[in-house]
This record gives sequence, structure tokens and C-alpha cells, in this order.
Amino acid sequence: MKELDYDKIKSVAKGYEKDITAFLRAMISHPSESCEEGEVVATIKAEMEKLNFDEVKVDGLGNVMGFMGDGDKIIAIDGHIDTVGIGNRDNWDFDPYEGFEDDQLIGGRGGSDQEGGVASATYAAKMMKDMDLIPEGYKIMVVGTVQEEDCEEDCDGMCWQYIYNVDGIKPEFVISTEPTDGGIYRGHRGRMEIRVDVKGVSCHGSAPERGDNAIYKMADIISDATAPTSPPPSRASSRCSTPSTTPSTTRTPASWAVAPAPSPRSSTPAPPAAPWLTPAPSPSTAA
Ligand SMILES: [Zn+2]
Repeated sequence: MKELDYDKIKSVAKGYEKDITAFLRAMISHPSESCEEGEVVATIKAEMEKLNFDEVKVDGLGNVMGFMGDGDKIIAIDGHIDTVGIGNRDNWDFDPYEGFEDDQLIGGRGGSDQEGGVASATYAAKMMKDMDLIPEGYKIMVVGTVQEEDCEEDCDGMCWQYIYNVDGIKPEFVISTEPTDGGIYRGHRGRMEIRVDVKGVSCHGSAPERGDNAIYKMADIISDATAPTSPPPSRASSRCSTPSTTPSTTRTPASWAVAPAPSPRSSTPAPPAAPWLTPAPSPSTAA
């Protein structure tokens, strides 16, 4: 394995400081709530082309991806480029789309979660190519993924389902740039969707003892599911949607811990699932 010259890498990165900052602030300037990422996609695509990525494309879902190197195997660096909204503008003490910077911080909606990651990853791939740091047989894929935050439906993970199942891109390794306050973690908060069906027996209201009330059974299950669990390790406790420099918009634990279970007797047919939304052993990077 190649010996890394960290001082050289740091000094080359320092040389790009102004460009990376300008790139991030350009991304911040475009409101990019889920399903409205078009302008920020165009900004990233233009930056990748300016930096002479070997290939730049936008897939059918809207994910923007740039490749450096020519190996068959892929190391992907991922960042979702949609943001949550700004909530009440009066709660901000600066314009979240104008943003700000000083010698330590860049602030603005999406600056931390996760456009800052995409800015860093884009220039990291450029530096890896220029400094001959891409491992033999590999290429680096930098991907700005869409619709990770709350869409009309909660679409977390859909972007990578698409990349894996429809684009057919199957990286050997994925680095997520979800904010960790500068830490490097193996793994990140994920999620699981569980559907629970309970069955009852209907009866006349005058004689409830002849029936079996499914709502009562579900009530117990819900109360178990929302019972407190042990807290995560403090270093991993930052929520995806709560960048430290901006007001937070959080979902309550209950809203993501328990997916509503449709009634088995519901008369509304479920919409057909997108054909590519099949379970796949894809790397789970979005959070
Ligand atoms: Zn995030």
C-alpha cells in the first residue's frame, strides 16, 4: 500500500480552500428541499466538469455522480444534497440561503447536512486523481443523492436503491459524508421499517365480549415500541437533520420508530411499488 504524505495532502487541500468554500456556498444558495434539487444538481455537475472528472452524469432519479479513475471497481463517496426546509425564518439570525463564513465556520441550510460533505468529496476525488492516490483497479465515484430527507413520502434510502438496482452501480465500499462533528465512524445510524398486522374478530357493539378487538392489541404493541431504549453513544448522537450551527428541525422518536400499519381490511388498495424498490443487499449509506 502506498505511503500517504499527509502534509502534502493537507497543503494541496489548503490550496483549494477558496474554491471549496465558493462551491459550498453556491450549493447553500439554492434552496434544495427534497424533490426540488435541480439547481443544486446543476451546480455540482458544473463543478465536476470544471474539475475535469472523467465522467459526470445525472441518473434517472436525479442523483448526480462524477467518476475519477478508470478501474472496474468503485469506491463511492456519498452525500445527500436535499435539505429540510428552514421552518420559521424569524428563528434564524442569518439568511439560511445567503449563509455566512468566518475563518472557522461556513453556515447555511444544508452546509453541514450534507452539502459540505459533497464539496469535500468532490475536491477529494480531484486531489486523488491528481496525486495518483486512486488505488489500482478502482475508480472513485462522488455522488450527490436526492430525496433523502422527508419527501411527500419518507424516501430515506430510495436514492441508493435506485443506484444499486436501476443504475446497476455496486460499489465495493461506500463512505457516507453524513455529519459526525469531524469523527470517522464505521457505520452510521440506519433505520428499519417494520409492519405489524394484528387480527381481530368483529362483533356487535352490545356484546363486545364476543369479539376480539384488534385496536387493543395494537395499543400494547405501540406502547412497547415507543418505550425508552438505551441512548446511543454520545459521539454518535447527532441527528441527521440537526446541523450544529443552524436551528433544528427534528422528528420525534415515535414518528420514525413505528411505521403505521395499514389495516388488512382497508378498502384503499396500496399503490403499486416501484419495480426497482425491491429488497437488495445494497450498502445503506443514507441517514
Ligand atoms: Zn443527512
